[in-house]
Amino acid sequence: MGVTLRQVKKSFGDVDVIHGVDLDVAEGEFCVFVGPSGCGKSTLLRMIAGLEQTSAGRIEINGRDVTDLDPAERGVAMVFQTYALYPHMTVAENMGFGLKMNGVPREEIAAKVAEAARILKLEQLLDRKPKALSGGQRQRVAIGRAIVRGPEVFLFDEPLSNLDAELRVEMRVEIARLHKEIGATMIYVTHDQVEAMTLADKIVVLRAGRIEQVGSPMDLYRDPDNRFVAGFIGSPS
Ligand code: ADP
Ligand code: MG
Repeated sequence: MGVTLRQVKKSFGDVDVIHGVDLDVAEGEFCVFVGPSGCGKSTLLRMIAGLEQTSAGRIEINGRDVTDLDPAERGVAMVFQTYALYPHMTVAENMGFGLKMNGVPREEIAAKVAEAARILKLEQLLDRKPKALSGGQRQRVAIGRAIVRGPEVFLFDEPLSNLDAELRVEMRVEIARLHKEIGATMIYVTHDQVEAMTLADKIVVLRAGRIEQVGSPMDLYRDPDNRFVAGFIGSPS
């Protein structure tokens, strides 16, 4: 159960960017991908989401082979760094829009939006338009859009990197609380070591399309396999 990658590869044209990744993310685990810009974090996440085809290998979500399924069939929801909200819709409409498009009944949408708003403390803002929200509030709405879909797996691609430092800390705490409250499997891409160390049950250190090391924050901090991992996790050795 959870998310399983077996010998997952990706090439763009004749350039290999992911070189055969094997990974097990347990159900309910908070897994963080870290690594330098261009190492393949987003590509790997997008393959799990189904936004990018795998060139080879197999992806399973909760025991189901999803390798060739469309994004909508995978039971995942993704939150991006840039979160385009519909400017003419309210917060509630933005959060419920995907469900509405899928023909979910109005009362059911309202109940799911209310629940997401409670979790994200957006209850007072449901009738506002995006332009009347702060950056942090907008990012909460983007996360709310993912929550209302009730995914088995949440995928986050550097969701906080557009926020200022203070908001980043606040949202990091919110995301940790969200994970505690709903307990879903989460895979979270960041290049921020503090986010990785504080949020992760498991950290996956990537370098040039390969996994360098996988372990708990403490494992990687105390016992990095090499200088690259040590440099990334900020251990003194
Ligand atoms: P990260 O998210 O870790 O910064 P990416 O997954 O975005 O890295 O990119 C990994 C590598 O794949 C980079 O060299 C990038 O230039 C390349 N790449 C990503 N998307 C494409 C694409 N659509 N076409 C060609 N090359 C791509
Ligand atoms: Mg990226």
